[in-house]
Amino acid sequence: MPTQSSSETKPRAWVEVDLAAILRNAKALERQTRTRLLPMVKADAYGLGAVPVARALDALDPIAFGVSSIVEGEELRRAGIQRPVVVFTPTLPRDLDRLRHAKLTPTLASPEGIARWTALGGGPWHLAIETGMHRAGIAWDAVGGLAAAVQAEPPEGAFTHFHSAELDNQSLSLQEERFRVALDALPLRPRVLHTENSAAAVRRHPSPWDCIRPGVFLYGVGSGPTAALQPEPVVHLRAQVVELRIVPDGETVSYDATWVARGARRIATVAVGYGDGYRRHLGNVGKALVGGGIAPVVGVVTMDMLMIDATGLPCEEGDVVTLLGRSGEHLLSAEAVAEMGHLSPYELLTGLRQRLPRTYVGGA
Ligand SMILES: *Cc1c(COP(=O)(O)O)cnc(C)c1O
Repeated sequence: MPTQSSSETKPRAWVEVDLAAILRNAKALERQTRTRLLPMVKADAYGLGAVPVARALDALDPIAFGVSSIVEGEELRRAGIQRPVVVFTPTLPRDLDRLRHAKLTPTLASPEGIARWTALGGGPWHLAIETGMHRAGIAWDAVGGLAAAVQAEPPEGAFTHFHSAELDNQSLSLQEERFRVALDALPLRPRVLHTENSAAAVRRHPSPWDCIRPGVFLYGVGSGPTAALQPEPVVHLRAQVVELRIVPDGETVSYDATWVARGARRIATVAVGYGDGYRRHLGNVGKALVGGGIAPVVGVVTMDMLMIDATGLPCEEGDVVTLLGRSGEHLLSAEAVAEMGHLSPYELLTGLRQRLPRTYVGGA
């Protein structure tokens, strides 16, 4: 992962990640739910950098880290992270050997998978129970069929995943009821039971379970403006102004001429575009923080550059513009920017491309 050093020229655009804010968001959830954390650092910690984020969160003594794949788990191991790492996307039985080699914890749901894990020598694993998402896990009313396998190699944990915890539609209670029925069908109670993603942990507290699995909340995305617990912003997308021009009345800006100057406007060219993950849909709706004010993104976002209308704002070549996150008293939250571009905040964060260097502030 490229990081910035002071001897380099300032990158044209970069992502600043506030590790101290991640820790405060994690602690707030932990306090509210009164349980331990199993932070989800899958997908490179939602694009923020799995290794630095996991290293920071390690200070909170999480029960484990959650990743999607063996490869993601191997990256944490190579970085020296010793804590348990649970792989949540189902692992095919033929890949369990490699998973075991990296000392990762699989999530299993079939007699074949459990038998293969047992044959390899066993060790901690979590039972995935499907209660309504219909994505991964053994159906809640079929868990009894695993009794013999579970007896032979008891799981350390068992879990389910909510499909609509951010909506108040009773599905959470129904899914959890099914989860309890499934647990009752097991010959033993696994030591670590877990169900809650961020939205469920924000909504319901204290937790009735042994840990929570927050992802997006840690990274600064809340469950809507009315939620009782709000995260601190974590991710700041910044880019440099590389040119300025006066665009005369009636002239247009960018491809397809979707924006027309009304009167002479002072237009700044900013060195970030959809090739960095600042999505094309944000053209003519996105906003930029510069010179203590807010400037609209004008015209279509191009691959490497976008234009903002900086008329009336102090804005010069080399100045830093914020497209996402905080600058001074202004905040462009991930939720707000995602909404402007008709995206989910998850896609916005995970879509920030690797060509944007990540810089870290607030680390230990
Ligand atoms: C991604 C994921 C989470 C975290 O979800 P957030 O909405 O980001 O909090 C929790 N559990 C599982 C199984 C996941 O895949």
